[in-house]
This record gives sequence, structure tokens and C-alpha cells, in this order.
Amino acid sequence: MKYLKYLPILLILLLHVEGYGQDFLIENVAVFDGEKVIENTSILVENGEVSNVAADLKFDGDIIDGSGKFLMPGMTNSHVHAWMAGNLVEAAKAGVLNVLDMHGVEQYQQSMRKRFLDSTNYARYWFAGAAATVPNGHGTQYGFPTPTLTEPEEADEFVADRIKAGANYLKIMVESLRPSLKPETVEALIKSAHAKDLNAVVHVSQMENAAQVLSLGADGLVHVWWDKPFEAEKLKALANRSDFFMVPTLLTVIRIFENNTSMEDVSRLSKEELLGEVLKAYEAGVPILAGTDPPNAQINYGSDLYEEMKLLKEAGLSSIDVLKSATSLPAKYFDLPNLGFLKPGYKADMVLLNENPLEDMEHLYTIEAVWKEGKVVKTP
Ligand SMILES: [Zn+2]
Repeated sequence: MKYLKYLPILLILLLHVEGYGQDFLIENVAVFDGEKVIENTSILVENGEVSNVAADLKFDGDIIDGSGKFLMPGMTNSHVHAWMAGNLVEAAKAGVLNVLDMHGVEQYQQSMRKRFLDSTNYARYWFAGAAATVPNGHGTQYGFPTPTLTEPEEADEFVADRIKAGANYLKIMVESLRPSLKPETVEALIKSAHAKDLNAVVHVSQMENAAQVLSLGADGLVHVWWDKPFEAEKLKALANRSDFFMVPTLLTVIRIFENNTSMEDVSRLSKEELLGEVLKAYEAGVPILAGTDPPNAQINYGSDLYEEMKLLKEAGLSSIDVLKSATSLPAKYFDLPNLGFLKPGYKADMVLLNENPLEDMEHLYTIEAVWKEGKVVKTP
């Protein structure tokens, strides 16, 4: 028992290695803080959080020289379907430290979250649980069991079940190319979700459905409509009336169109037209969030998010708004606590790039380091 006196020292050593990352300072770096870029500044990380961002900070500890480099918040992919731990690893390595699942098997999702929520090398996992859909509707065709509903009277119970399963938001399927929920039920679902402080986001593919669910109070669309153009004035009027966002998943829609010959008879927009619809929404003031819907269309959970960001840039978003689409905007619209910004009190989820993505979104591929809550994520 005489070694017991060393226990406190041992504990301190263990905490140092296993606890929060070591405190450190990055100096002479350009920081995108979630809103704006601060050139040539320094950022201090203590206890896994950003404790200060200011020029010429002094620190008696590890100092990283960020000269010529660009630091941004860890990214969020606002539309995924994750099935394996490896998906969360692939995301984290690419600096995508939050993934928002939009439909899956709840028991499985709960166990993924429990196991990996606090693990450095895994993206945080947020989910909708099972999406709301009718028997044989969109979402039921993937071979896993999924609950369904039909009538507005079933909405409260459906939403309560998702909350019980740990859902962070409600996902609703409105897809008129298949059997689909009727507007009264969609409206009841949105109301039930709002009564429980949950966001209600909607899968649409058809413009008329998009217009309808937005007029029913949906908080967001998780795809851009792709059958025909939205009338600009009508979209602007909708955006003025209510606060909704869009996750266009341009990469997904474009790839599915390229690869799917069976859809040739279905009315659909060209790539240029799809980019035009996103620009129309952006110009109407709709916040645009980056998401890629993996594993659909063989899209990966990591770097393909940069491809989506390149498309958003090509559509006409400003470079700053493209960075926001994958950082501060998802944090704001999905209530991700203390995430998405690099400001004092926010988690030190950070991506260090060797080149500035504001000059060229391709520079997102120049990752030098990723930190999750101040701890280094193993990058390839
Ligand atoms: Zn999806």
C-alpha cells in the first residue's frame, strides 16, 4: 500500500494523456470564426475549448506556427445516412466532425451514438431516427424495417416515438413519385414536432411539394427540388414569410441523374438549372447548408463534402457563405451546442488548411490537421 501515495501523480498523468487535449496556441494564422475571416491572428485552446482569439496572444506552452495557413471550424454534413463506425471515422479524418443522419434504424443509431459520441477519431452523430412516411412510401424500399403513418391523428404518437428514440429533429418524406403523406398529415407532423421543440425537415424532389411543405411550416428542405424551376417571386414571398433553410445535396442529385438511365422519362432539371435553383433560393435569403446524402450515389462521408461546397460556389454563393454552409449555419439551424464557430466558449473543433479556401474551394483538400475538442484527429 505504500505506493498509494503516488496515486494522485498517476491520476494527473492519466488525465493529461487521456483527458482533454493539451492546451496550445496557434499564432500568425488566418481564422474563419464562423462569420468572418480574421487575418494574422492567434487562437488559444484550453480544456478542449477556444478560450481566446486575438492578435499577439502570449502563451507559456505548445505553440503552433500558422503562418500562411487557414483555420476554420470543424465541418458538418447536414444530410447523411451512416451505418458503420467507419463512416464516422471517414468523416472525422476529412474534418467533418458532425454528421446529421436523415433516416435509419433507431436501435442501431442509438448504439452508434453511445459508443462514439466522445471519441476523438469519430464524427459526432446526430439523427432523425426513422423518417415519417406512409406504407410503401419513400424510405420503405431499402430493406430495413421502418415505422409508418397515414393519418394526422397519428402524428403526435409518431413524433413522441422518435423523441423516445433520441431523435434530434424530425425528418418527413414527401415524394409524390411514390405513395406519399397527405398534406394534412405533414402539417400535423410539423406541428407536433414544433410543440416538442424539434425541427421538422422534409425530403422533396418535386417543386410543387417543396412549395407546399414550406407553406405548411417546414423548417428545412433536405434536397433541392429537381423537376422544374421554382417561380422566383413565389420563392421570395415564401422566404420572407418564414425562416427555412435548404440542404440542396447538389452532388447527390447530379450524380444520380448521371448514373440512372431509368429516370429518363421523368421531368428533371439539368445541372446548370439545378445550380440556378440553388442560386434563386440563396438570393431569396434562404440559408444554404452543405450535405451530400452518402452512401447514395457512392458518395463518401468525408471529402465529398468539399465537392458539394465547390458546387455551391459554382452556383453563385459567396466563398464565405460556402464555408458557413458547412460550419456555423448547420450549428445554428440544428442547434448543435457550442459548435460551428471558433469563438471563446466554443468547442475547439478545428481544421487547419495549408491554403486558403476563399481563393479556391479546391484548397479544402489541403488539410494539415484536424482537432476535435482540442485533441488531434488521426488524419491519413
Ligand atoms: Zn437521404
